[in-house]
Amino acid sequence: MSPRWFLGLGSNLGDRHSFLAAALREIGSLPRTVVTGLSSVYLTDPVGKVEQPPFLNQVVEVTTVLAPRALLEATQEIERRLGRERSERWGPRNIDIDLLWYDGPAIREAGLEVPHPRLEERRFVLEPLAELAPHLRLPSGLTVADALARVRGQQVRRLEAGVDMAHGSEVEELQQELRALGRERNAVILAHNYQRAEVQDVADYVGDSLGLSRQAAASDAEIILFCGVDFMAETAAILAPDKKVVLPESRACCPMAQMVDVEGLEQLKAAHPRAEVVSYVNTSAAVKALSHVCCTSANAVAVVASIPEDREVIFTPDRNLGAWVQKQTGRPMILWEGFCPTHETIQLEDVESARQRFPGARVVVHPECLPEVSAAADAVESTSGMIRYCREDAAEEFVIGTEAGMIHRLQMDVPGKVFHLLTSSAVCPNMKLTTLAKAVKALRAESPLVVVPEEIRLKALAAVERMVSIGR
Ligand code: SF4
Repeated sequence: MSPRWFLGLGSNLGDRHSFLAAALREIGSLPRTVVTGLSSVYLTDPVGKVEQPPFLNQVVEVTTVLAPRALLEATQEIERRLGRERSERWGPRNIDIDLLWYDGPAIREAGLEVPHPRLEERRFVLEPLAELAPHLRLPSGLTVADALARVRGQQVRRLEAGVDMAHGSEVEELQQELRALGRERNAVILAHNYQRAEVQDVADYVGDSLGLSRQAAASDAEIILFCGVDFMAETAAILAPDKKVVLPESRACCPMAQMVDVEGLEQLKAAHPRAEVVSYVNTSAAVKALSHVCCTSANAVAVVASIPEDREVIFTPDRNLGAWVQKQTGRPMILWEGFCPTHETIQLEDVESARQRFPGARVVVHPECLPEVSAAADAVESTSGMIRYCREDAAEEFVIGTEAGMIHRLQMDVPGKVFHLLTSSAVCPNMKLTTLAKAVKALRAESPLVVVPEEIRLKALAAVERMVSIGR
């Protein structure tokens, strides 16, 4: 097996997020090098006497066949390509890539020292490293987690992985503004589990599609600020027509929901006149209106089990969730060929690699994953099911196969346990479109509003109400 490395990325000049992202892309394209882990991004006060802006720091885990010296030269070349001058020691930098640690013998050579000589003194390195490898042994014999507990001072603030580059103080200001505005406008703020950490932290309720739907239906607020994607806001509008539903980012759509269309579904229904249509909540209002009942990943098994045995079942749009429900219920179904592009980035090799890297950890994946990924996991759970599973299971460490935002939710809801993302590619770009600034702007303007035409709403309502009434 190729050696496992941890690299530290830092940037405090220019578009810091872009520099981290560009460095990450370049590292991932080095010959026979695979990025196997990616920490959250941290906002860090600079060390030393030079006056300069705060850094963004992140730790990347890779496996590579490159020898240490070759990896050092390759990372220096990346720095050069990104415009880094290496002369200004301790000064501001647009990009800094450090070799922190690898699973080989210690190296002390000119210009190359691994493990990094200051690794154990630096909170901005230890915090992100602890996310990926808390039990890693450092040169002193301490684990990363133990070394972190001994570091004093040093202001470090965790941001969501690679998605929000606002300064910590800006985040707090925006959160305060949004909360105050929410009170003033009598708005309830709902956020899906896949939203950015700082958006989740300000929401009145964070949850999965089913939980959020229930919350939307039960709330007596005048405005629902829905931090999620379009079909979720539409579902809220179906359930609560008397309220204004605001989606902060009108481009936040779900590609899976767009894979099923009214015309195609009508044709399939015509070909199977005795079939009942079960539609995942990730569908448009128009598709819901053609469905007998909706479901979420949390209650899909119960929903399908509720369909009389003598009826066929058409399941839309997710073929992976459908296949998993078929396996659980033993019920053959006609599956629509849709899928979630984010969950389909998770591959069987990611599970195999995680088993080697975290031998004591449980692997928990979402049913939107490919069937072979689900089959290789210890548990297949909806996002709400993941929280329950990780809380109740005796294991202390979990590898999570779903969208990256779920790691923050688990860290909040199940403190004291360690969570790793199965693959850093599992980031839904649509979910990340909503930022605090956009949420504030949208609530202030009470726009963009999500409105479902009444004729479609009434037809969709029956399917959605059946979903809400069926338990997990
Ligand atoms: S994670 Fe997948 S299913 Fe969820 S909104 Fe993104 S694309 Fe759609």
